[in-house]
Amino acid sequence: MTDRHHVVQEAVIGGKRVGAPESFEVLDPSTGQPCALVARCGAEQVDQAVAAARETFETVWRHRSAADRATACRRMAEVLLAHRDELAELETLDTGKPISQAYVDVDAAARYFDFYAGTVQALFGDTLLAQQDLIAYTLREPHGVCGHIIPWNYPLQVTARTVAPALAAGNCCVLKPAEDAPLTALRIGELALEAGFPPGALNVVPGYGEEAGAALADHTGIDHLAFTGSREVGQLIMTKAAANIVPVTLELGGKSPHLVFPDYDPAHDVPLMVRSIVEHAGQNCSAGSRVLVHESVHAGLVEELARVFGALRIGRGGTDPDLGPLISARQRDRVLAYLELGRQAGRLVTGGAAPDDPELAGGFFVQPTIFDDVPPDSRIAQEEVFGPVLSVTPFSTPHEAVALANGTPYGLSAGVWTRDLPLAHWLTRELRASQVFVNNYSAAGGVELPFGGYKLSGFGREKGFEALREYTRCKAVAIAVQPPPVAG
Ligand code: NAP
Ligand code: MG
Repeated sequence: MTDRHHVVQEAVIGGKRVGAPESFEVLDPSTGQPCALVARCGAEQVDQAVAAARETFETVWRHRSAADRATACRRMAEVLLAHRDELAELETLDTGKPISQAYVDVDAAARYFDFYAGTVQALFGDTLLAQQDLIAYTLREPHGVCGHIIPWNYPLQVTARTVAPALAAGNCCVLKPAEDAPLTALRIGELALEAGFPPGALNVVPGYGEEAGAALADHTGIDHLAFTGSREVGQLIMTKAAANIVPVTLELGGKSPHLVFPDYDPAHDVPLMVRSIVEHAGQNCSAGSRVLVHESVHAGLVEELARVFGALRIGRGGTDPDLGPLISARQRDRVLAYLELGRQAGRLVTGGAAPDDPELAGGFFVQPTIFDDVPPDSRIAQEEVFGPVLSVTPFSTPHEAVALANGTPYGLSAGVWTRDLPLAHWLTRELRASQVFVNNYSAAGGVELPFGGYKLSGFGREKGFEALREYTRCKAVAIAVQPPPVAG
């Protein structure tokens, strides 16, 4: 239990800390013990936050030049890095992830603000070739007040990823973090003031999904909704966006495949495949959770994967293991249920249970697990597990590999492992995923690469320059060109 547990972490609304009548406990997933008390916001606080965002948008932020907005974003990057240790420790406490991964997350959060500080200054409209008697151009204008609802797996990164382009483009934001991991998002809300964003530009309202989340999604004062989370809640958010006719981006789940061909390089490729499913214990929407492998190298690859999995160290986030806990008992039990399904469908190679190490007692840990010979239509091959669970399925031709890769309801990321360039190019065209990595795999892929869904993984693009288009709308202006009367 820390000091944080005695002080309720309040919302950040209009530049001030704002309480709520009730609070809720946040657990440290490494120990299962309470680590913070957080304000349980509801419709009233969401209303205040939307009003604060609207006021700041109308009176301050939309009048600022792109260069001014960029200055605040650049300072924000500096402020985040100045609080690097504090933010990384808080993220590890809140999510259980290994501390070195939390440092990566702080750095990425800073990079988002830095990236959009630069790119927003190159967000120009077009000059249009209209009729001879018209000069026409387009403007990219902010939506106004953006609502952001985010999950618990990467709170630092996803907060920055979604609010940095929105703020840079001139919007004001109301963010609802996940109840399981709200701490760093709240801290970002405070640090934004230090960085020079005007009060009300970024408001953070913690609470339950069905209360604060639903109030935000329902709110008629919201002009754009960005949701990252599960498919079920995403569908609900879309119905709410439909009711208010506002644009929505949905970043939902994934079941991302690795396609491994006979000329893959075991020494280089296998550690990257393993990292893609082990990072944050597989609680990553773009985790590489399926390995599709050519039958001629199938046995050798499984042996190598098992060897690397066997050497992974599980531990509490603060000890910087390879693998930390899952976020909650609920999530752990869900993953354990999938392990049972995996056993029924395929062959257990390694892992398959919660660890029995007494050192890990109380935490929500699951062993990294591999299932081999998994039938492609089984639930373990089709559904997102959101845990450190890899399923392996062999194929015999590239066409079959593509059919398997595209044969789930999801389409987020994909990894291609071959040095055969024409084959790799063909695969990148055929795969239905927003990010295709060839001989590398970086979950969600850096700050510059647009990211989003095909199929049930959602739509709209976050990250990269694309996100600036997402957080603006286009206005066309046409001005008559009138020759003056000829003198005399
Ligand atoms: P979730 O239940 O959908 O929650 C996501 C967010 O929605 C949380 O802030 C949640 O609040 C809120 N919420 C829940 N019910 C709501 C409602 N009725 N109205 C409005 N908001 C509501 O997802 P999760 O279980 O936290 O996260 C895991 C899922 O997210 C996985 O399926 C994963 O693939 C997906 N994910 C996708 C991406 C991506 O970029 N594509 C990234 C990360 C995660 P509470 O926390 O209070 O429930
Ligand atoms: Mg939830």
